[in-house]
Amino acid sequence: MKKISLLGATGSVGTQTLAVIREHPDVFSVSAFAFGANIRKALPLIREFKPELIAVKNKAVADRLHIELSGNSKVVYGPEGMIEAAAYGPSDMLVNAVLGSIGLEPTLAAIEAGKTIGLANKETLVTGGHLVMEQAKRRNVPVLPIDSEHSAIFQSLQGQDKSAVTRLILTASGGTFRDRRRDELQDVTVADAVQHPNWSMGAKITVDSSTMMNKGLEVIEAHWLFGVPYDRIETLIHRESIVHSLVEYADHSMIAQLGVPSMLVPIQYAMTYPSRLELKQTKRLNLWEMGTLHFQKVDLKRYPAVALAYAAGKAGGSMPTVLNAANETAVDLFLDGKIRFLDIEPLVGDALDHHQIIASPDLDAIEEADRRTRAFVHSRIK
Ligand code: NDP
Ligand code: MG
Repeated sequence: MKKISLLGATGSVGTQTLAVIREHPDVFSVSAFAFGANIRKALPLIREFKPELIAVKNKAVADRLHIELSGNSKVVYGPEGMIEAAAYGPSDMLVNAVLGSIGLEPTLAAIEAGKTIGLANKETLVTGGHLVMEQAKRRNVPVLPIDSEHSAIFQSLQGQDKSAVTRLILTASGGTFRDRRRDELQDVTVADAVQHPNWSMGAKITVDSSTMMNKGLEVIEAHWLFGVPYDRIETLIHRESIVHSLVEYADHSMIAQLGVPSMLVPIQYAMTYPSRLELKQTKRLNLWEMGTLHFQKVDLKRYPAVALAYAAGKAGGSMPTVLNAANETAVDLFLDGKIRFLDIEPLVGDALDHHQIIASPDLDAIEEADRRTRAFVHSRIK
């Protein structure tokens, strides 16, 4: 039995992780479970999966949850609570599906405790990729991708000569507004931006897909996961989301992973790696039903967020931390109705322009850059 610590259990990836566990109750169990504040969603899941340890956002949520649970599980809270859940002694693996750079410290704690890491939380690698990968190497802990593009690349690298990789190609749906020009995005609403054509995901990542900052973050994520330089990581618009990403080798062979869009597959692959299990909940891909697949170059003028992410990634040091913190803050402000959709990218660009780069930031320096960037973005909209 593989025991899982699950962060972000009430979210889009979290509930799909639980769906995988539900299909294989003899293979997986949930030992620790973390969420923010959504007790209504969490309660039936806690009753079903019976985690021994539960971590929530703050004391008020913990107190309310205690009353509901009548003392059957241990409840902890705050950032320390999430760290405790991530590194929980009996767990074999951390599935990190929390949202945002708050996932960094729990990931580092779980690596230190020797847990295998299944990582959906891309902000963790964008914010502190060098710390995560160094520590994972030192502790000899695998960091397995859950993000679908990275899972596709990881699958396409199995059994291959990694020194012969010439390009990683990340596919992108193009997001909600892919059929609109930039000048048609002036007045788009939050309700418009959180509709995705191919994937059902949390609000933040759906907005990130609309700006394609999501792909930019994924370029940085791929750099850290696979140790490939930025000039060998490319993006490609593929509107059907069937080819989940590709690897090109020295002989110009390309290996890709395909499937009907579903996060269940990459989640389960990280959890069963290197084995595979049946997954009844997903549909078989019949390529004859698709008929045609489309591919298109990414226009960096149409999607400036991708260019910002490459620039931050190439600059390195604390720049990706700033990119991520500025983007998280700007997207929050957009979702709260405080700024317009087209304000997101200039706010991120502004934060990068004003940041004094730190070459090899440690955890304290990263957290400081993250905090300052959030304050900076807020100061720009007053
Ligand atoms: P959601 O917004 O759906 O879920 C976020 C989860 O994090 C919820 O369980 C939420 O709890 C929890 N959370 C938020 N804030 C806190 C906090 N302060 N303390 C503890 N828990 C907190 O996000 P997604 O599932 O869409 O995304 C999760 C991660 O996975 C992101 O990094 C995203 O980029 C990545 N990802 C997502 C994909 C998808 O298909 N959704 C695909 C690939 C990657 P609560 O519900 O109580 O607020
Ligand atoms: Mg992805």
